Amino acid sequence: MLTEELKRYAPDLVAIRHDIHRHPETGFEEHRTAKLVAARLREWGVDVAEGLAKTGIVGTLRGARPGQKAIGLRADLDALHISEKTGRDYASEISGKMHACGHDGHTAMLLGAARYLAAHRDFAGVVHFIFQPAEEGLGGGRLMVEEGLFERFPVDAVYGMHNSPGLPVGKFATRVGPFLSASDTWTVTFRGTGGHGGAGAHRAKDPTIPQAHFVLALQTIVGRSVPAVETAVVSVGSIAGGDHASPNIIPAEIVVRGTARSYKPAIRDLIEKRLGELAHALAAAYGCVAEVEYERRYPPLITHAEETATSIGAAAALVGQENVIADAPPMTSAEDFSYMLQERPGGFMLIGNGVGPDGSFHDVHTPLYDFNDDILTLGAAYWVSLVQKELA
Ligand SMILES: [Zn+2]
Ligand SMILES: [Zn+2]
Repeated sequence: MLTEELKRYAPDLVAIRHDIHRHPETGFEEHRTAKLVAARLREWGVDVAEGLAKTGIVGTLRGARPGQKAIGLRADLDALHISEKTGRDYASEISGKMHACGHDGHTAMLLGAARYLAAHRDFAGVVHFIFQPAEEGLGGGRLMVEEGLFERFPVDAVYGMHNSPGLPVGKFATRVGPFLSASDTWTVTFRGTGGHGGAGAHRAKDPTIPQAHFVLALQTIVGRSVPAVETAVVSVGSIAGGDHASPNIIPAEIVVRGTARSYKPAIRDLIEKRLGELAHALAAAYGCVAEVEYERRYPPLITHAEETATSIGAAAALVGQENVIADAPPMTSAEDFSYMLQERPGGFMLIGNGVGPDGSFHDVHTPLYDFNDDILTLGAAYWVSLVQKELA
């Protein structure tokens, strides 16, 4: 069985994972990690292209049987600006940086698949192993696409995978259509004149008033503008203005910042439109002005039906249909693999990172999170199984 054979790679994959974990590199600075990936791919006979989107790598492997089809398998390389508190012997050696999203594990799993497939080329067509930089907020996936990833390495389909803390080991989960949300950041600056809060209050154009109305009105975007059968989240994360030491002074300016999550382009457009309308109208109502910045960050991650069915089949071949959740609920987190799925059809699979007997787990992006070494061979086997299905 596939997983049994891949288990022989386990000590090597664990060593690779721990090596990367010890030396975390954040977005577009993954030089050491990229070098390690490129060296291992070459050692196994995989063609390597370096320097895509600065620190990205694409490994290319041609099957022994003739075939026109090509697929892309994608992992991410970058770490986060978090101080690790796991106390592991392989914990981060770089202060303030940590692999707290499991991208060290994603990289090791895809390397495991590359090694296996390079030694067993019994497939028809081409596999591109895509190691992308800067997933965490900096859009390395977008940059790879902009730099011609799919022109240089044409694929018929592209697949991604992420570990999922809280999902038991041995389980997979995915869904067709909107899976992860769009992630946008917005900033509204209310400007008035300010003034003395006692003596000059009646003469002041007080921006705290439209700001207060705005924070409440914001929730009517989801409550009244977004259709009830759709969904979105709009949240305020920061309100800044005035001087803590001068409570008797009305500030001239208040800055409100927040995030917005949505799953469909039309809903995303609606949020941006209503947010601007509310800010401008409420500012005008109180003699102030509003300046609105709406920054579209990652688009929603939308998977495709046929490729998702293939990815479910690939996972089911390893763990059984009963351990593959085919209709996982959408999540309000974001992933820049979404840029690749905008260009080519594909699927996105979650692999269980495990859960404690009492249901507890450390989530990604927390100082106690750790990728589960026990799933390295299963993850590599999933990629191999997918290639066997796609390039049969
Ligand atoms: Zn992350
Ligand atoms: Zn991640």
